Amino acid sequence: MNGSCRIAEIECKSILNKSALADYTVNCYAGCEHGCVYCYARFVTRFTHPGEPWGSFVDVKINAPAALKRELRRKKVGRVYISSVCDGWQPLEAKYELTRSCLELLLHYRYPVTILTKSGLAARDLDLLQGGEDVELGVTLTTLDESLRAKIEPRASATEKRISLLHDARERGITTYAFLGPFMPRLSDGEDNLGTLLQLISEAGVAYFYVDRLNPRPRVWASLHNFLQEHYPFLIDEFREILFNAEARVRYSADLITTVTRLAKRYRLDDKMRLCFSK
Ligand code: SF4
Repeated sequence: MNGSCRIAEIECKSILNKSALADYTVNCYAGCEHGCVYCYARFVTRFTHPGEPWGSFVDVKINAPAALKRELRRKKVGRVYISSVCDGWQPLEAKYELTRSCLELLLHYRYPVTILTKSGLAARDLDLLQGGEDVELGVTLTTLDESLRAKIEPRASATEKRISLLHDARERGITTYAFLGPFMPRLSDGEDNLGTLLQLISEAGVAYFYVDRLNPRPRVWASLHNFLQEHYPFLIDEFREILFNAEARVRYSADLITTVTRLAKRYRLDDKMRLCFSK
């Protein structure tokens, strides 16, 4: 056990897997200590960890670098996304260094790499990324309210640390981007939060940024419901409406797009915006 998280070491058959997000994805861990309440990845462990709460277990693929080395020799070079169903720099990575070892191999074999993380631990590996031919590092940012952040992304790094990571990477000449969202209706989708996040990523010099809304992917509603029940029961009906009522969802999405577009213009970021959703 690691705090409230149960850790198991396992062996994987393959690690360089096809992905809709890029040509390939590498996930050195099955499960994620960060335990975000809105995480879409929770469905991937439905057979290996049935009934176990997301964030309470992680399987560590201890042979990931060895498996990757084998695959890199025989697969076609393509962009690799790290990581799609876990955070490659979740706290366990400080001990295991599996993502770092895989990154080293990918760069050695000249695979383009796109990283997305919520962890300041990724700063450890900027030395590898610096000077990389085609690498980019992104951080997810959802809220500047640390007390809300601690509730929705309990074991991820503080927002301030993630923003520092963007600055550190940029200073080393690494291309950076931000993934803004998913935003929590009435909790983190207000103008103050959105505007300040945009100002901060503008100051950090990101090449582009994504904006996402909250999505009712499989198993997410049960997690959100528990979170709301515990902290904001008065918002349950409103969340349900925005997530599951088609008309309300269109209205909500349109308002969010209007607000973000207006704020992005204010910070001269409008040509860098990539929406992950439509009305
Ligand atoms: S960091 Fe990403 S993979 Fe990990 S729990 Fe949060 S959303 Fe899921």
